[in-house]
Amino acid sequence: MSPEPEYIRKIIHIDMDAFYASVEQRDNPELRGKPVAVGGSRERGVVAAASYEARKFGIHSAMASSLAFRRCPEIIFVKPNFAKYKAVSRQIRAIFFEYTDLVEPLSLDEAYLDVTENKKGLLTATKIAKEIRQRIWEETELRASAGISINKFLAKVASDINKPNGQKTILPEEAIPFLEELPIGKFYGIGKKTAERMKFLGIHRGKDLKTWTKELLHQEFGKSGEHFYEIVRARQKSKVTPSRARKSLGAETTYSKDIVGEEHLKKALSEIFTIWHKRLELANQAGKTITLKFKDNQFRTYSRSISLEKKSLDREILWQNALHLLLKEEITEPIRLLGLSLSNFNEDKEIKYQQLTLNF
Ligand SMILES: [Mg+2]
Repeated sequence: MSPEPEYIRKIIHIDMDAFYASVEQRDNPELRGKPVAVGGSRERGVVAAASYEARKFGIHSAMASSLAFRRCPEIIFVKPNFAKYKAVSRQIRAIFFEYTDLVEPLSLDEAYLDVTENKKGLLTATKIAKEIRQRIWEETELRASAGISINKFLAKVASDINKPNGQKTILPEEAIPFLEELPIGKFYGIGKKTAERMKFLGIHRGKDLKTWTKELLHQEFGKSGEHFYEIVRARQKSKVTPSRARKSLGAETTYSKDIVGEEHLKKALSEIFTIWHKRLELANQAGKTITLKFKDNQFRTYSRSISLEKKSLDREILWQNALHLLLKEEITEPIRLLGLSLSNFNEDKEIKYQQLTLNF
């Protein structure tokens, strides 16, 4: 059985393979075939990306460089060159735009493409993905993987399946059985902590998640719980939003010690506010909607939002509203994470869902 037609689009998730490391290996033949870590120095740095040769030693991104060195003493550290990665990123985006205007970048090396209607009139999303990966290879000498399915979530999960240099299509009729068997740890958006909590609650696969009502999931996981409820049923409303600009700009902090009480919360808010406002100023980004997010020590996430009459970047206005969001209802639980974000930068263009017969 396929999901309801209004939930079916043709979505491709493209993900470059070991992006930074591959760019460095491409540009420096001496690095090819060798374990390479792009990132800071051995003493105090962090690995930003690891080549596939390095991954064989258990080295991965976000790992301390010192640990990477212990695991593989012959590892070669390379300083990141973000200007170069950005240039390659522009190159691959230009390729995407030849197929569709509905391109939503996730980072320099990842993007969602909605190819339900594509500019080249190609019949299947599978074929488009193949062609795009080939084009990327020809133009950049870099490899990409792809996931193809009916929504962003499934495409994202799929792109990991035949990585590197591969692709995977999850057909509409395969979506629901696939999700039922999918281990919770593989759900995009379910982090390590949440996955642990789910396993503790007996939720190991999609089919276990499905036995939970929306209300119970909300109770347990807050707003994300409702998202999980829809996702596991292959009902994702989130569209591919062609945002060359970002959709929200935020800052958040996870505390090593829980924060309790209004005074401490206010102090924590003011600290995160300072970081956040600096980011907004640097980006020169005014927005209408302010969102306060917090997580309690039971890993329940809450969010409170307020929308201004018109876009603002004014420090005082944003601070007063952030403070209002914090204080409008007493927070009694110990808090482990606090975050602020600004969104609603401009009006969203609506993408109409159409009921089509789709070939994947
Ligand atoms: Mg990647």
